[in-house]
Amino acid sequence: YGPNDEIGRLTSTINGMLGRLQHTYSELEEVNHTQRRFVSDASHELRTPLTTIRGNVDLLEKMWKRMADSGMQQDSEQIEMSLEAMHDIASEAARMSRLVNDLLSLARADAGFQIAKIEQDILPIVEDVVRKAHLLPRTVEWSSGDLSALNGVQVYGSRDYLQQLLFIFIENAFKYTEVGFVKLDSLRTDNQIGIRIEDSGLGMDKEEVPLIFERFYRADLSRGKTAGTGLGLSIAKWIIDEHQGSIEVKTTQGEGSIFIIWLPITVPSDSSDLGISIPTD
Ligand code: ADP
Repeated sequence: YGPNDEIGRLTSTINGMLGRLQHTYSELEEVNHTQRRFVSDASHELRTPLTTIRGNVDLLEKMWKRMADSGMQQDSEQIEMSLEAMHDIASEAARMSRLVNDLLSLARADAGFQIAKIEQDILPIVEDVVRKAHLLPRTVEWSSGDLSALNGVQVYGSRDYLQQLLFIFIENAFKYTEVGFVKLDSLRTDNQIGIRIEDSGLGMDKEEVPLIFERFYRADLSRGKTAGTGLGLSIAKWIIDEHQGSIEVKTTQGEGSIFIIWLPITVPSDSSDLGISIPTD
């Protein structure tokens, strides 16, 4: 044992530290890169509706100014044009506000915001969503199947966020299904409940499944067909993670999709599952 061994040990410790630093640095770079891409994708998405809104407002302003200057009465063609422009403004403004809401949710998630949760019955939460979904625009038959697997089951969760979660999947099913049906029902294992949303719609290429949970990702087939933000499923993923749940996807292109949201059960309906025995004597 001599100074050489000491130096050898020191260099290997330093090398180890450098390696770890390099690793941390690459991880930070990665986070930074992801954040920068998110911000740039978000600004791009916001700019598109804004351009339409500004273009239409300009058009309206010029048209009405010219009429005012010339003392002309507006004719039906001009009224028609104005109405169209105002309609575009309203729908693009609505799209922007959806986008801003979605971006806020994700910014909250990124900032480490934790969803406040309490133990509560899952059945009334799902039933409420099923009822409200009847009011959504759709071209398909909407029904809820067997919800008995949820009977008496409690989960540790947030009513509002769980409802938002279900709406994301139901609205997607409505958006990506032109004919046929969308159906919601329930499943149960020993320690989890599953809420299944099935549709007879577009479906997807299997390879796209892991990508749809990424921010701003929209599958090829759905682009242009519907106005979406590409953020719904990334918000859904965050809500599911916050509830310690998981998601299962089965899909066939051209035939339809099945999404199952799995959530841990805190209080099962059958008290014998709790492992507590109540003395009878
Ligand atoms: P958006 O619906 O706004 O595009 P989402 O994050 O909710 O964004 O979904 C991402 C993509 O996943 C959609 O663009 C679509 O391609 C695909 N997708 C989601 N749900 C379905 C579904 N039920 N059927 C077919 N494709 C779907």
